[in-house]
Amino acid sequence: MKLTEMKQILAAGRIQLTKSLGQNFLHDQNQLRRIADAAELTPADAVLEIGPGLGPLTEYLLARAGRVLAIEKDLRLVEFLRERFAAESKLTLLHDDALDYLRRERSDWSDWKLVANLPYSVASPLLVDLAESEGKPKRITVTLQLEVAHRLVAGVAAEEYGVLSLLMQLDYEPKGSFKIAADCFFPPPEVDSACVTLERRSKPLLPPELRPVFKRLVKVGFSQRRKMMLKLLRAAWPAERLAAAFVTLGLSPQIRAEKVSLQQFAELARKLGAGNPGAAEGEDRGTAE
Ligand code: SAM
Repeated sequence: MKLTEMKQILAAGRIQLTKSLGQNFLHDQNQLRRIADAAELTPADAVLEIGPGLGPLTEYLLARAGRVLAIEKDLRLVEFLRERFAAESKLTLLHDDALDYLRRERSDWSDWKLVANLPYSVASPLLVDLAESEGKPKRITVTLQLEVAHRLVAGVAAEEYGVLSLLMQLDYEPKGSFKIAADCFFPPPEVDSACVTLERRSKPLLPPELRPVFKRLVKVGFSQRRKMMLKLLRAAWPAERLAAAFVTLGLSPQIRAEKVSLQQFAELARKLGAGNPGAAEGEDRGTAE
């Protein structure tokens, strides 16, 4: 779908785009192809697409995958898509808020790939929710703000390393990313974007019961980035238990969370959660940072 075609469709349907729904449509065919390539689709794949918009990416997904489930919040676009893809038996189209739908249905996506140009306002909570769910998708290829993309893939040495990096990388390995300039979208967003691919770890770093401990550690540890992590953690765990865990792991009592690697956070969760995973009581859901 070219830019001229997109503009014609919007004009013909008298569709005024809604900023709060992150309606920046991707019209650059090279970038759409690169996204589909990054997803490594085969006819055996089932794809979850969130926010199909006018369907420029959906078109590529349908050409390459075996089935596509697309969830779109804007009824005007759903109606357009129903007509546009009326003959497509591979496509299931849902009119819903994707975040509500995923939280409500708790479906098993473990054999699915998520491929989407995400609505930026819900990108982080949506990804964290999926990563935390039991049936997490096997591969994720998503376009989102460049700054969020950096946080998703950041390692311990990077400036962007933080809560979102750790909550996602506990279950997923970053497999690559590329930048997409703002003028590839209509209308162009105020910031650049990037497409990121994450692959579910073949072997989880932690058993499910320790995930809440890990999450609490990360959230409390990063609650004040410039403060010593040990001091911050004392609000959630007994001082002696923490001191012993830090000694066993060889962590300096002065260390800040930004210097603690994913593996060290996972080890800490094991130590602090052993026989006591309930230490994470009061854990909240919701946005990553
Ligand atoms: N995939 C299209 C493309 O690449 O041109 C559109 C991407 S646009 C960045 C995001 C899309 O997500 C819009 O169509 C918007 O209406 C839809 N959207 C926004 N919030 C949503 C939500 N909570 N659930 C489902 N769709 C949503």
